[in-house]
Amino acid sequence: MRRALYLKFLAGYIIFAILSYISIALFMPNIINNYFIRHQSGLMYSEAVHIAETYASKLYTSEISLESVKQQIDALSIYLDAQIWILNPSGRLVLDSSQVLDVNTPIIIENFDHTEIVGNYYSVGTFFGYFNYNALSVLAPIISDFETNGYVVMHYDYGKVLAQSHEIQGILFLASAVTVCLSFVLLIVFTISFYIPLRKITRATEEYAAGNYSFPLHSNSQDELGYLAATLSYMANKIGKNEEEQKKFLANISHDFRSPLTSIRGYLDAILDDTIPPELYGKYINIVLTETDRLRGLTNNLLQLNNLNPKGLYLDLVEFDINKVIITTLATFEGTCNKKNLRVNLILTGEQMMVRGDLSKIQQVLYNLVDNAIKFSFQDSELKIESTEKRNKIYVSVKDYGIGIPKEEIHMIWDRFYKSDSSRGKDKKGTGLGLSICKEIIQSHGEHINVMSTQGAGSEFVFSLPIAFDEPV
Ligand code: ADP
Repeated sequence: MRRALYLKFLAGYIIFAILSYISIALFMPNIINNYFIRHQSGLMYSEAVHIAETYASKLYTSEISLESVKQQIDALSIYLDAQIWILNPSGRLVLDSSQVLDVNTPIIIENFDHTEIVGNYYSVGTFFGYFNYNALSVLAPIISDFETNGYVVMHYDYGKVLAQSHEIQGILFLASAVTVCLSFVLLIVFTISFYIPLRKITRATEEYAAGNYSFPLHSNSQDELGYLAATLSYMANKIGKNEEEQKKFLANISHDFRSPLTSIRGYLDAILDDTIPPELYGKYINIVLTETDRLRGLTNNLLQLNNLNPKGLYLDLVEFDINKVIITTLATFEGTCNKKNLRVNLILTGEQMMVRGDLSKIQQVLYNLVDNAIKFSFQDSELKIESTEKRNKIYVSVKDYGIGIPKEEIHMIWDRFYKSDSSRGKDKKGTGLGLSICKEIIQSHGEHINVMSTQGAGSEFVFSLPIAFDEPV
């Protein structure tokens, strides 16, 4: 079924080759023979007519002697490689280019009947039994005074016509054999360079459709098929990775949802079956509230991630003062900073720094970065927030002096749900989604976000934004 197209093609090719050969073998010999007969007889007939109208008719009106006509037809017979006769209506030979006739022993063509030939200006055969081989003969009447005085007859060896025809047929057969061979070579080339790679690609797509994304699809060809194979293989690789990531993502979500739900259920059960005495209800209900807050945060983050799009399609781009956004964001953290006794060092370039971006999403980035910086800062340390301008870009840096990130984990912090082991203990509320949200927002603006961190010393997160040259509206 899957090979049907190729088999049809192959069958079509074989049928075509056989049919062309049969038709060449059946029809070509006849067509070529007829062509040579018509060609040769046409040539002879026009010469015969010419002789009939000139020397021969003059012969009958006695304007020219028999000898001089004989000379003329002898020369012509050599030139045309044909035997030329002048024949009386009764069938008696008057002149023959191949011999000198003896008047005393007349040669008569028995059964000569001009009507057999006149309808068709040529005939193939023994010429009324005169020859013992086949001759191609033409006949032109010699007419004077509206009377047929005789005929100019020209004979050409039919064997020579056949020999010429066979020569051409041989060439034609050879040419068609070469064509069939060449097309067979073409078929092999086609099979190797199109069919086999196409089969490989089809097989690979079947495997990919069945979920086997690791199925190897290599192609050495540099053409469109090679490109298609490479693209498919790349696509399968990507889908495979995505599937893996999705599985990991779901496993993480389930885990992050399950642990607060388990603890909520545990505390509520304990309250219901009186394991927790009523005087401690307040404490445990507060824990339950914290856990529900965490679940709400998780859900919000997930919804937000779902709405983000790396191509920035959903961005509501406006021009705003980033310095103002930094100040207002920091203000929301005043309480938490005080709790940890953090000194905030704010270094802002210029009074106003206009950037272009989605205001609420950039606020979210700043919020996540400052939240992390405070969470992972050491007690009584410093929080440094800076805005600088460099080559038409604004760089915002959030730097803390805290636990830092281990070198081997630094590339993973942008992954969804990633939380370092050290932070899991300290930060029970974190979902591991904050930084991946930041990255997606900044990337959807076509900008970059980076981190520099030293374990035990602190971390600095820097992101860029495009500067806005117009005045804010
Ligand atoms: P969460 O919302 O749980 O904080 P994030 O995606 O924001 O998740 O951060 C992922 C992980 O990256 C954190 O769990 C922490 O291990 C590490 N991290 C992020 N910011 C900092 C920081 N300023 N200092 C140290 N580690 C950090």
